Amino acid sequence: MFAAPEQRSHLVLENFIGGKFVPCRSHIDSYDPSTGEIYCKVPDSGKEEVEAAVAAAKEAFPGWAARSPEQRAHILNKLADLIDANLEELAQAESRDQGKTITFARTVDIPRAAHNFRFFASSVLHHTNDCSQMDHMGCLNYTIRCPVGVAGLISPWNLPLYLLTWKVAPAIAAGNTVVAKPSEMTSVTAWMMCKLLQQAGVPPGVVNIVFGTGLKAGDALVGHPEVPLVSFTGSTATAQHITTRSAPYCKKLSLELGGKNPAIIFADANLDQCIETTVRSSFSNQGEICLCTSRIYVERSIYSEFLEKFVAASKKWKTGSPSDPSNNNGALISKEHLQKVRSFVALAKSEGGVIHCGEGIDQMDLPKRNANGYFMPATVISGVSDSSRVMQEEIFGPVTCLSPFDTEDEAVAKGNGVRYGLAATIWSQDVGKVHRVAKRLQAGLVWTNCWLVRDLNLPFGGMKNSGVGREGGKDSYHFFTEVKSVTIKH
Ligand code: NAD
Repeated sequence: MFAAPEQRSHLVLENFIGGKFVPCRSHIDSYDPSTGEIYCKVPDSGKEEVEAAVAAAKEAFPGWAARSPEQRAHILNKLADLIDANLEELAQAESRDQGKTITFARTVDIPRAAHNFRFFASSVLHHTNDCSQMDHMGCLNYTIRCPVGVAGLISPWNLPLYLLTWKVAPAIAAGNTVVAKPSEMTSVTAWMMCKLLQQAGVPPGVVNIVFGTGLKAGDALVGHPEVPLVSFTGSTATAQHITTRSAPYCKKLSLELGGKNPAIIFADANLDQCIETTVRSSFSNQGEICLCTSRIYVERSIYSEFLEKFVAASKKWKTGSPSDPSNNNGALISKEHLQKVRSFVALAKSEGGVIHCGEGIDQMDLPKRNANGYFMPATVISGVSDSSRVMQEEIFGPVTCLSPFDTEDEAVAKGNGVRYGLAATIWSQDVGKVHRVAKRLQAGLVWTNCWLVRDLNLPFGGMKNSGVGREGGKDSYHFFTEVKSVTIKH
């Protein structure tokens, strides 16, 4: 169904504006991270393309907003079915574009993209509004919610279609039209989805996708006066630019940002389960998930035993060709990112940290065609101080650090001792302790004795430098609508 990339020298992507594919004059190279070779040419869009996309979205808005939630849900469900029907092709493309294993794309990214559309198709049918009586005044008050208009959606490269659809689905379910800009490093599956939008019967202009860099296309979108709300997922540094850029227009902002997520492991934890899950939470998707664990605090009485078992389990986490189903990890997103992640390992070493496995220690057995890919093995570090940049900054790679603690208070203080506050995990069998610590941790999501279990109805988002706002069933609906209070006097 999709043009087979292998049969062309390079795949050349086009913008999707007003229901049509529109070629762009200039392009950016996008690489296959597992080989280091160019995979595709991504439109290098700017103001002109964003202007056209916003105009198309504006024109489509009244018609789309006037449809009933059931009519919109019907189209979203069709889109979900089409993503399912094209799962394998989408998974192959996501892996080639991003570097992740095909298995991960096939079992996590693409199924979740379909689920996003199905979930918001359903949830939009179930919202109710508030109502209050003021009998003494002869008044009845109630709220109504209306779609906002043209939504600007900006997504990152780590979970490309998964995170893009997490924004597109609630935005259009609520009756908005959108202009989306995926990451310039991972644009292929968004482009493939445009064909599915046509097949699903999404009216022209309801979803427009403009490809390009953050500094050109992203900036033009955020600074467009006719885009009253922006939903952004990406780094804290970019969010600061976006906040400044949108301030003169008083835009509604949702910001889902980075993390430096702690795992707090008490002596009474089920160690087998905890180690298996914490290896997964540290290294899944090459450690390129905002929710990945990167600081592991272990109660001192079990620290040595934990460290030994954790390192042994991490050594079994295999990194290599993304198409080999026996591998857990594929390649990191780019050469520059690999260098950045490696530099943190070098920094830990220079500060007296111990590298137990991974970078500089374990050899990877890479096939010849992957020799220039951006691979790095799962790396475990200990002995770094809490104030080190290694323990404070988001590394966003397959690197995790261990450190002991003595008391519950100390564990909480260490967990909270960074500028981020996205996610945390707690491991203990003591229900009272779990409740106490969960309440005190500064994190938007706290998992106890598990990781990455998600009910999309519940709020998702971060505290402190990890973000502003929440997304989820009700929260996304609130973000993508304006609420109005109406008073009726009789
Ligand atoms: P990034 O901030 O570099 O880029 C994200 C998106 O913003 C891209 O589409 C990029 O082109 C665009 N962009 C860059 N500069 C821009 C500007 N000035 N104006 C408008 N748009 C601009 O982030 P990234 O490197 O792609 O993604 C990794 C980061 O995303 C990590 O920090 C990670 O933790 C975070 N993340 C957070 C969540 C979450 O839900 N909290 C989920 C995934 C990733």
